[in-house]
Amino acid sequence: MTSTKHIVIIGGGFCGMMTAVHLIRDAKYPLKITLIHSGTPFIRGVAYNAYSSKHLLNVASGNMSAFPDDMEHFTNWLRIKKEYTNYEKKLLAETFIPRNIYGEYLGNIWETILAAKNGTVELTILDDYANDIELLEHNKAKIFLKKDLPFIADYVVLATGNSLPRNPPIANMAYYSSPTYFQNPWNINSVSHLKPDGDVLIIGNGLTMVDTVIGLLEQKFQHKIYSVSTNGSIILPHRHFGITYNDLVEELPGNFELTKLVSLINKHIKKLRKLGISAGPVIDSLRPYSQRIWQSFTPEEKKKFLSRFRHMWGVARHRLPVFIYDIVEKLRVQGKLETYKGKLINITEKGNEVMVTFHNTKKWCTETLPVQRVINCTGPETSIYRNLNQLLLKLAEKAIISPDLLELGINADPSSYNILTPEGEKHPNLFTLGTNLKGVLWETISVPELRVQCEQLSKVLLQACKQD
Ligand SMILES: Cc1cc2nc3c(=O)[nH]c(=O)nc-3n(C[C@H](O)[C@H](O)[C@H](O)COP(=O)(O)OP(=O)(O)OC[C@H]3O[C@@H](n4cnc5c(N)ncnc54)[C@H](O)[C@@H]3O)c2cc1C
Repeated sequence: MTSTKHIVIIGGGFCGMMTAVHLIRDAKYPLKITLIHSGTPFIRGVAYNAYSSKHLLNVASGNMSAFPDDMEHFTNWLRIKKEYTNYEKKLLAETFIPRNIYGEYLGNIWETILAAKNGTVELTILDDYANDIELLEHNKAKIFLKKDLPFIADYVVLATGNSLPRNPPIANMAYYSSPTYFQNPWNINSVSHLKPDGDVLIIGNGLTMVDTVIGLLEQKFQHKIYSVSTNGSIILPHRHFGITYNDLVEELPGNFELTKLVSLINKHIKKLRKLGISAGPVIDSLRPYSQRIWQSFTPEEKKKFLSRFRHMWGVARHRLPVFIYDIVEKLRVQGKLETYKGKLINITEKGNEVMVTFHNTKKWCTETLPVQRVINCTGPETSIYRNLNQLLLKLAEKAIISPDLLELGINADPSSYNILTPEGEKHPNLFTLGTNLKGVLWETISVPELRVQCEQLSKVLLQACKQD
């Protein structure tokens, strides 16, 4: 090894921070790490900086450890917190804790690693935005910043995470600059300062829609909430705690064909239903295999999955804690929440009213809803061409990054995390993980997958530094 290697991590959410944690913990020789972060709060990101204590984790605590080799790390930490000491660890493992508490947990991991850090790693944290990267000779990269001067690094990790949702196409795209439109559903402004009269429309019908409904209730919002989404499916609760189902996994074939897999899943769902158990445990049992399954699909199967099964999978996979589900269902029964299956056609403003026109794909007719505001809960944008992340847009424009086949994220090698050139070659010094790998791995959003990626990527980086 010639000189101290310099690793730059862009993005300080779960992925950037946990990759740094592993690097600091495992580095055996001098290393320089620069973590560049701006936007949502450092470490917490949007996910663990919730504006409401009723915004809960969507994964039970028992599966939320930040460390893949210490699965009780989170529940052990919870137990030493005053409000959780009186609960059995086994019970805590089955519960859904507020996301802010998880943010505290991540903060604690960071403080602990900083306190234990010796002189091997030189760590710099920059509160800045990386807006460009230039690839130089000898596998070096020049990082350009919004505020500070550019500098040179040996390895760069794009841990850029969750972007704002995309504005759905409508005839009057100018509406999206209106103060009645909220593109960022994770900001408390989206549910505050409402007028005493007028309904609200939420675009999207998933977990963020539910968080927004909870947020509106906390703001004492009394009027009607509409949600419009292309699938119109009702979000489901986690019904069966502690049930693990292994029969499907035992029957999984060596290579996966989409149609065969769908019939196998349906067979097992029917089998469980006979016992009065819903599809949850069958779907959950596939989670450790989902990335392998996705990677073995042909491009046609991936496209078919996206067009035919994506929403069904989403509904079955992303479920709600029962007590939150009950709040939402009560609103439906009271007629205060109406969910439509439809496609937005236009949004216009008339006086104080916002008129939302959509094609109701259940009734096959056009409908118009007058509301006072529109909140976009369609989920983070992952396409590198439509992203609001200026760095990703810039790198895509320069063809330093390119999309995966389905344009769901960045094309990369999921075993080494190297970003691939448009020609499919590995960039030796550019890496990515997390949501950016959506097209390559499909399930790459939640902590159970991300914690593994952070650890593996840090090993790849340490090995690369050693070999140089
Ligand atoms: C609302 C919400 C709730 C969620 N809840 C759960 C849950 O309960 N359980 C679970 O397992 N998963 C959950 N997830 C999934 C979540 O994506 C991950 O758990 C995790 O937070 C992702 O971390 P990340 O580091 O990849 O991204 P982020 O947390 O988004 O962090 C990336 C950071 O990089 C910064 N950044 C981006 N580009 C630049 C740049 N060019 N220069 C400088 N900084 C930059 C961004 O501002 C951002 O703060 C949730 C996601 C969301 C959106």
